[in-house]
Formats: sequence, C-alpha cells, structure tokens
Amino acid sequence: MNALVLHAIGDARYEAIPLPEPNAGQVRVRVGFCGICNSDIPRMFGKGPYSLPLVCGHEFAGVVDRVGAGVTKFAPGDRVAVFPLLWCGNCDSCQRGHYAQCLAYDYLGSRSDGAFAEYVVAPARNLLPVSDCLSLEEAAMIEPAAVALHALRRAGGCSVGESVVVFGAGPIGLMVAQWARAMGAARVILLDLVREKLALARKLGFQHVIDQRDVDAVAVIEQVTGGIGADICVDAAGVSQATVQAMRAARHGGRIVLLGNPSGDVNIPAELISRMMRREVQIVGTWNSDYGVFGEQDDWHCSLAGMASGAIDVKPLVSHCVPLESAWGALNMIKNRTEVYCKVLIQPESGASRKI
Ligand SMILES: [Zn+2]
Ligand SMILES: [Zn+2]
Repeated sequence: MNALVLHAIGDARYEAIPLPEPNAGQVRVRVGFCGICNSDIPRMFGKGPYSLPLVCGHEFAGVVDRVGAGVTKFAPGDRVAVFPLLWCGNCDSCQRGHYAQCLAYDYLGSRSDGAFAEYVVAPARNLLPVSDCLSLEEAAMIEPAAVALHALRRAGGCSVGESVVVFGAGPIGLMVAQWARAMGAARVILLDLVREKLALARKLGFQHVIDQRDVDAVAVIEQVTGGIGADICVDAAGVSQATVQAMRAARHGGRIVLLGNPSGDVNIPAELISRMMRREVQIVGTWNSDYGVFGEQDDWHCSLAGMASGAIDVKPLVSHCVPLESAWGALNMIKNRTEVYCKVLIQPESGASRKI
C-alpha cells in the first residue's frame, strides 16, 4: 500500500510499504479521509515522534476491509470512525474506564502507524459505526469534535442562557462554539486575528465575532455580557495574550478552560490572580476526549450523534482536501503558513486536490 512515511524530522516520503494484516481482535480499515492535526506539525517538523520510521495521522474514518480472528461486531464494508488511542486495559485509569488517561497507552499516528496511508490496522474495540446520514469526510472530524465537547464538559458543560467566549477560531474553537450553541448558550463570542477565520465563524451563524486586532477584547466581552463577564472562557488559541484575556473576561464564579497548547510562557500579573481569587474563578485543563466501550454518553458517541443531528456542522470547516501523494506538500503549507487553512483532509483514494 502507499503511505506517507516519516523517516526523520522534516523528511517524509510517499512510498509503498507492506499492507498490514489484522491480528486477532483487530480490524483493517481502508482510510476514507484523514485530517491533519496541528499536533502533526511539531511531530513531523519539530521535536519529532516517539519512534521512527512512522506513519502519522490520527483523525480518520474509513471502511472496514478485513477483520482478524474473533471479531464479530464488524464486517468488511462497514463504515467506521476510529478512536486512535490504544489503551492498555490494565492500569489504574483503564480499570476505572478512563481509557484516554491510560498510563501505558499506544497511539495510532504518533507511536504506532496511523492513517496518512491507504490502510490502518486498529483494535475492533476502537471502532465506532458511522450512520448512513454522515459522510466519511464528516466522520473523519469526530476526533476534533470530541476534543471540543470534552473541553466544555470539563467546565461542567454549558447551561442554557450562559455566555461562552472562545479565543481562537480554528477548527476546534469553531466546534467548541457550535457545541456551546447546541447546549443553549445565550451568547457565544469568538475572537481571532485572522480575517478569513472570522468570516467562517460568521458564516456558521455566530454574531459576536471579534477581530482582536481592532479592539480591547475584554472590554468588548464585558459590553456583550452586560458588564458581568463570561460564564465560560475557552482558550483555544494557546497564545499568552488570549490566556490572560480569558482570565480577565471570566465573571464571578466563571470557568476558564485551557485547551490550546501553550506557545510560550504566560505572565499573569498579581492583580489578575487576586481578581480571579476574589471572583472564585475555576481554571480547568482539558486533554484529549473520553471514549467509552459501553454506553453512548462518552465524547465520541455524543459527537457522532451531534454531527448526525446537525447540531454540529463540520463540513464548512474543511478548507482543503488533498490526495495522499500531495499530503507532504499540504503539511509544509501548514507549517510555513503559505495559505489560509482551516481543516485540511487527506483523501488517500482521490487523485486530485480540492481547495474549498
Ligand atoms: Zn488531533
Ligand atoms: Zn491503561
């Protein structure tokens, strides 16, 4: 099969590698679409992955191609999304069902071979069936949708009538905003510095879309919230200015979610710490998303349901779709920021690039 193989940091090659065979309990999936995640950029160009060579790519959906011994729940032809974290099943976290917090995990696309390839092998327990009303393109975006849902759930969820501010209108920020709206937020405020991202936020129907270059963001948030500040501030940008503004914009009893990976140190003035103490603001971190083998309430099953119901519309977030042989070019485009992009998908079966 063809794959984009990372041989060294900054050196990936589109080449033929052996087709992987599913062992007992495993399934081979023909990749329909695989999204490029921001985390793939440092993995492929920066500090590098866990081990080399490696096929990256962890946001994917596809069609079951072959099943290993003992797999009864899936058959060739089934459309599936894949939870990329391979949990050990034995550690303290796994025993409590918190697979995403596994202390000895493996991961498709960062520690084991992932989906910048025509085929991937995964345990059957990591597969979710995709209903007919969803395209594989949409299903490939379940991972960022689940990450966005998890971020709001870490803040206790959004209650009807609350105000939610999202710093950073990238794919995950836009999904956080959509989840907040679906949960009944009275006001959703989105901030970014990139005009095209703000335009997309408006296209998705958001009214309070703010260009941070033009205004004092905290003053605008106070104005929109009637002078009291926001119930939930999500830092989906990870830049220090946004982190500090999120802390300043939270109302009494408000919640702050740290979602974007930090791009540098954050300097928090003593006066701001004191303000958050007096306001009894909560700061929570969020990491990854929850996946459950039983039940339907985990972030992944809820994300599929949210996309199927139309509450979460991920299609407008796709800015580029490229074939596998062009994936390295697309990764370089993202690294060098030579084009404005939102979600970039790789479609192994396609022969042509699409810019949307
Ligand atoms: Zn990701
Ligand atoms: Zn474990």
